[in-house]
Parts: sequence; C-alpha cells; structure tokens
Amino acid sequence: MSTPHTSSTFDCRSCAACCHARPGTILVSSEDLVRWRREGREDILNGLMEGHFSESAFAMRPDDVCIHLGTPASSKDCSIYDTRGYSCHALQPGSRQCLEARRERSTSDTARVGPPGLGKSEPAT
Ligand code: SF4
Ligand code: SF4
Repeated sequence: MSTPHTSSTFDCRSCAACCHARPGTILVSSEDLVRWRREGREDILNGLMEGHFSESAFAMRPDDVCIHLGTPASSKDCSIYDTRGYSCHALQPGSRQCLEARRERSTSDTARVGPPGLGKSEPAT
C-alpha cells in the first residue's frame, strides 16, 4: 500500500492487494526502525520478522497477509497507515507492480469461489 491515493480507481485504503505477499518481502528500512523507536511503537517493532536481503520485514499472518492489515472499520485498511513502512509508500498506485498485485489478488479471490485450477499467485508488495 502506497501513499494516500483516493482516486476512484486506486483507493489503497479499500484495496490492500499489495499487502498480500510472501513472508519476508514487505521490507522496512532503517529509517522506519528509527522512527518507530522515536514514536514508541514497540508494537510495530515487535511485529517484525527477518526479511529478504538481511533486512527486516513486516510479519505475516498465516494467510500471507501483513499483520497490520485490518481495522475495526475495514478489513482492507492499514491499521498503522500514518506510520507505515517505506515499501508501503514506495509502491505507487497505478504502477505495473500495483496492477500486477491487483490482478493476482483478483485471481486469488476468484480461485476461492471459482472452478479448480486457479491457484493463488504471489502479488508484489
Ligand atoms: S495494489 Fe495498488 S491500489 Fe492496491 S493498495 Fe497497493 S498500491 Fe494501492
Ligand atoms: S503496513 Fe499497512 S500498508 Fe504496509 S503492507 Fe502492512 S497493511 Fe499494507
């Protein structure tokens, strides 16, 4: 999920396709870590896992969804939106990676209720 974008086409806060990913791939930066320490966000710091490239990453739920996805109001909104990580900002709505994530998420949703043979793929972050 990227920067605030509320166009009718790419409303991240009701999409969240790129919050579904392989474990260890939604990376956080050293600047994120410093900011969360400064903000006293032990909850976020304690919710990290070892990511790819020896970096830290958001931990994932068993269904390969970021542990921070979901608020009392919406299952597709980010619960730490105001202080989410750099990779969440970096993925631009409407970009190739965004479109791939949305397409693959759509395919995955279809697979749950549709015919066999359509499997879950791995959306970009
Ligand atoms: S897939 Fe695109 S529109 Fe959806 S949350 Fe990510 S950046 Fe936003
Ligand atoms: S921190 Fe928020 S925006 Fe980033 S992947 Fe997790 S739920 Fe999505």
